[in-house]
Amino acid sequence: MQKETVDVLIIGAGPSGAVSAAYLHKQGLKIKVVEKSRFPRFVIGESLLPRCMDHFEEVGLLDALKARNYEVKAGARFMRGDKVCNFDFSKKYTEGWDWTWQVPRADFDKTLTDTLEAWGVDIAFGQEVVDVKFKGSDSVTTVKGEDGKLSSISAKFIIDSSGHGRVLPRLLDLDKPSEIGRHSSIFTHVKDVKRPEGREGTIITFDIVSLDTWLWVIPFSNGYTSIGYVGPTEYLESFAGNTTEKLREMMKLSDYYYDRFEGLDYEFEPRMIKNIAKSVKQLYGEGYALTGNSAEFLDPVFSSGVTFATESSLQAAKLVTRQLKGEAVDWEREYSDHMKEGVAVFATYVKEWYTGNLQTIFFDSNDNPVIKAQICAVLAGYVWDRTNPFVKNHHRLVKTVARIAEMEKEAGGPAS
Ligand code: FAD
Repeated sequence: MQKETVDVLIIGAGPSGAVSAAYLHKQGLKIKVVEKSRFPRFVIGESLLPRCMDHFEEVGLLDALKARNYEVKAGARFMRGDKVCNFDFSKKYTEGWDWTWQVPRADFDKTLTDTLEAWGVDIAFGQEVVDVKFKGSDSVTTVKGEDGKLSSISAKFIIDSSGHGRVLPRLLDLDKPSEIGRHSSIFTHVKDVKRPEGREGTIITFDIVSLDTWLWVIPFSNGYTSIGYVGPTEYLESFAGNTTEKLREMMKLSDYYYDRFEGLDYEFEPRMIKNIAKSVKQLYGEGYALTGNSAEFLDPVFSSGVTFATESSLQAAKLVTRQLKGEAVDWEREYSDHMKEGVAVFATYVKEWYTGNLQTIFFDSNDNPVIKAQICAVLAGYVWDRTNPFVKNHHRLVKTVARIAEMEKEAGGPAS
């Protein structure tokens, strides 16, 4: 069996793995990325948040992405019937990036790995991690090639960025039920031949068809658009037929978008992912850290997945570097607490979306620019800015503002 030894083994070459690989490579550490599939490969998660631009910029990956001319996302539109709520990232409370992209992930992720390989990063594609054994913080990982041949990699540290593969959570029994409800999703791409001219054709939109069911429309600069529904698992399952038939039936629920997408071929048989939310008992252990989707996933409604993936992997990469240089690292405080702080903020927004409180603020409240700017900063991914009251007091502020909006509405006040 072929054997090799590295400082850090990274499992998975999605955005999470790519960002930690970029950082660690630049620190001069011996690293290896092991990726099960061959790129380009399809993965969902196409609407980014401005906050992740900080991460790509910091590790030197941003210029390669800019060269791909992805569709610029300067905000987001939420619609419910005839009510529309637009967020413009340039008007957000927290300083930082005021735009990002809507990306076909196959191309996006390949751009990242092509760039890393050009820098000399060792990425082994078509290699699946099948087992990991720890001895203290040292580990031996068994990898299976496409030909079935096994090889092993000894490492001082593992960053598990395996996304939905959830390698270490499965092998070490770290999964725990998420506190977010049982939602599923069904989605595909279409050639957007009826795309309207101008902003209307390219704006990312969340069309709310009921309290807990919504459609995403994410146009790409290559003329294709991602369409997908999210809703309670039982509800999505209640539509008859295969996934194409289910999605075609669901598209009829959107008054606004039905005509635009009616009759268009689906580029691939719509995929269905059931019970999307994932959580783990711990985010790190001796000799490893979980980053990105391998650690936690809440819900697609605020597009936070890739940003958490890159935030966590950059943070983990920095801490591993310090640890391997002999510095003491407090993983609980510097990694787990940091990540959980951001997750908690987004978890409140996701939960309050489905209770309807956030929808009341978006669609029924007086359009207060101060409140809107503060919420906009959260939606841009700046969830660690504790000067923002909607970050610091997220537990109660969303509820309070929604209650005020409801009272104003009952009193026939400023709500429209
Ligand atoms: P991934 O991008 O999934 O990459 C993990 C890699 O690990 C894969 O390439 C996989 O092949 C590899 N791997 C898996 N197992 C193994 C193994 N055993 N050995 C070796 N390699 C392995 N996020 C957003 O930011 N915006 C959105 O709009 C959005 N929409 C979403 C919609 C839905 C329905 C869902 C379910 C998720 C959505 N997400 C979204 C979340 C997004 O998919 C993830 O957060 C994001 O892809 C995480 O990146 P990652 O690098 O952690 O994992």
